Amino acid sequence: MATGGGQTVVVLGGGIGGVAAANRLRRRLDRDHRVVLVNRDPDFTYAASYLWVMTGSRRPEQTTRPLKRLERRGIEVMIGEVTDIDPTTRTLTVGGRTLTADHLVVALGADWATDKVPGLGDHGHTYATLPGAQRLAAELARIESGRIAVVTAAPLYKCPAAPYEAALLIDAGLRARGVRDRVQVVVRSAEPAPMPVAGANVSAAVQQLLADRGIDYQPGRQITSAEPGTVHFGDTSEDADLLVYMPPISAPPVIANSALAADGGWIHAHPATLATGFEGVYAIGDNTHIVLGIGKPLPRAGVFAHSQAHVVADTITATITGKPAPAGFDGHGGCFIETGAGRAAYGSGNFYADPAPKVALHTPARRWHWGKVTFEQRVMRRWL
Ligand SMILES: Cc1cc2nc3c(=O)[nH]c(=O)nc-3n(C[C@H](O)[C@H](O)[C@H](O)COP(=O)(O)OP(=O)(O)OC[C@H]3O[C@@H](n4cnc5c(N)ncnc54)[C@H](O)[C@@H]3O)c2cc1C
Repeated sequence: MATGGGQTVVVLGGGIGGVAAANRLRRRLDRDHRVVLVNRDPDFTYAASYLWVMTGSRRPEQTTRPLKRLERRGIEVMIGEVTDIDPTTRTLTVGGRTLTADHLVVALGADWATDKVPGLGDHGHTYATLPGAQRLAAELARIESGRIAVVTAAPLYKCPAAPYEAALLIDAGLRARGVRDRVQVVVRSAEPAPMPVAGANVSAAVQQLLADRGIDYQPGRQITSAEPGTVHFGDTSEDADLLVYMPPISAPPVIANSALAADGGWIHAHPATLATGFEGVYAIGDNTHIVLGIGKPLPRAGVFAHSQAHVVADTITATITGKPAPAGFDGHGGCFIETGAGRAAYGSGNFYADPAPKVALHTPARRWHWGKVTFEQRVMRRWL
């Protein structure tokens, strides 16, 4: 690792974790040190708002900002595909060019693995991507009667709350249009309970939110394939006029093919420091696989990517400036669950608590909805 003089910090990924890390590094480091952010797409999009695109409360451009805006702050932005990572030398290949980092933050997120379930992409609609949320919005605006099946297509997916939030918002939208009595809404989850990592109380509270709105919920139902009008769960099948899904995820291939990869191609970062075991290389957010005391992984959620980004940015700053290392990531996090009609529930707690995560769900209220809106506005106005 270079010592003295200007150093180069490279952040791979321009999502929640990458943008939060690059901003914090730029604020903390003198300008003789370079902060370089690399992303394949020119735009940052804020996934937590996609469900509002689905409901028609946001236009896609309200959730999108050009990453190049970071250059106004002195962050170098490289748009290109990362095709090779050598963590030993911290050498990267981006769009055929070679880049070497003194300090490297890997925040490449998780890839969609929709193809794992035959027919899912062809016959289902997802709110998990911006174009998908737009198409789903059109379908929801059209439906007058029938059956909507909201599924999680694997036990491991991004944002454990999102599928339940989607079902609650779909219910609220149908009620607002006066067609709810003609449209059945069901949730079938691959996992054994809603948000199981958050514990039995949170699972029960989310189930109650669904039951209160007449949404039939069945856990442990892994979708195995889909065809027009029908969803298959192993030996059983159900009708679905509209299939709404959260896709399975997989590790980004560039990580899975690198020396950083552990089980399933994910990175096993240290739970507190996010160190990878390679000197000067840290991993944050969805591309990490941090196994909790209960044997399940820390959920893939932006709230964790954001906190981890700050820890890593402060650690790198401390290394460069010779100051003491900061406290590590402590496992705290929370998320809003929109329930419709301007209300949201809010679950928060310590996911690193021993022997099991200690998380509580606050009942739906207007203030949690406004908390979600306020955070969204801060990201869109201040981050980029
Ligand atoms: C519908 C939905 C709603 C959500 N709601 C919430 C919420 O309310 N609260 C919450 O905490 N979390 C939420 N999440 C989860 C949250 O969006 C993710 O956990 C978060 O974005 C992870 O941040 P990240 O930086 O690790 O990855 P990402 O934000 O996914 O960023 C990764 C970036 O790396 C880029 N990339 C990947 N591979 C390459 C490559 N080879 N070369 C170049 N660039 C590459 C990608 O294009 C992407 O820009 C939601 C997710 C979805 C889908």
